[in-house]
Amino acid sequence: MNNTCPANKDYSNITFIESECSDGMCCFTCVIPPNNGHISFLKSFWRNGTGAFCVKLLVMSEGCKNELYDSCKFLDFIISQNSENSNLRMNLRCSIYKSRPKPCMEYPDRAGGSYHKISGPCIYNEYTASGIYKQLVYKRDWQAFFAIRDQSGVIQNIFPDKDAALARELLLKVKDVHPALISEGTKESEYILIPIQKQADNILYTSEQHQPITTIEKAYNRWEEKIQKNLQHHYKHEWEAMLKNAIEMEERDASQRRDEDTARNIKC
Ligand code: SF4
Ligand code: SF4
Repeated sequence: MNNTCPANKDYSNITFIESECSDGMCCFTCVIPPNNGHISFLKSFWRNGTGAFCVKLLVMSEGCKNELYDSCKFLDFIISQNSENSNLRMNLRCSIYKSRPKPCMEYPDRAGGSYHKISGPCIYNEYTASGIYKQLVYKRDWQAFFAIRDQSGVIQNIFPDKDAALARELLLKVKDVHPALISEGTKESEYILIPIQKQADNILYTSEQHQPITTIEKAYNRWEEKIQKNLQHHYKHEWEAMLKNAIEMEERDASQRRDEDTARNIKC
């Protein structure tokens, strides 16, 4: 991937609208099989969402190959400008929410294939979890981006309130948003990359089964089957020792942070 950063940044922001699931990350990876196979024959004729085929999810981690995921054809990806502070806001929504397929209705409380349902934290929950969690469960920390095809028709579709050229200019002025060439098979295509913010408080889907990941120990107790499967895959017979080490490391980190906070408060 080749990055080029324009110099005229004014460092405005781009965040999700404050609404549950406005990140839409699972509509790129978890609930959709390749080729949108979860959509029935009839639904495949329904209108596409604004993100279809031109907005992708890019996952990058040091030392690993980049991963690029297509969105579900029904995902609407909308960017607008906040009139109060000029910052940009994204909202990712299912355009057929009430008629969405069963795997989407059940996710993330019940996820997995048709024959083996296994519950787990959703992808945004894991994205916003600590680096120690990700290193343990995925053997790597990772950063995620929305990659938008750098074409005026595409930009117009996702930013309908503005003229496409102005919308592109506004996007590229946002901190850390940048154009990039991304390899897709044998060819390279131009994209605009938006780093995905970690705004778990207002965005993360929560239910009785689906709570934020605050510590590895709590996550393991809640989603033992899924997490254990990952650990056994990565560490074979050493998985229990790795889990114990990570829990201890997280506890040490938390107690160090508590000590630092106490020392700071005493000084004040
Ligand atoms: S918060 Fe979780 S369930 Fe909701 S859209 Fe994001 S990944 Fe999906
Ligand atoms: S049908 Fe809707 S909820 Fe299901 S993956 Fe597509 S956009 Fe997401």
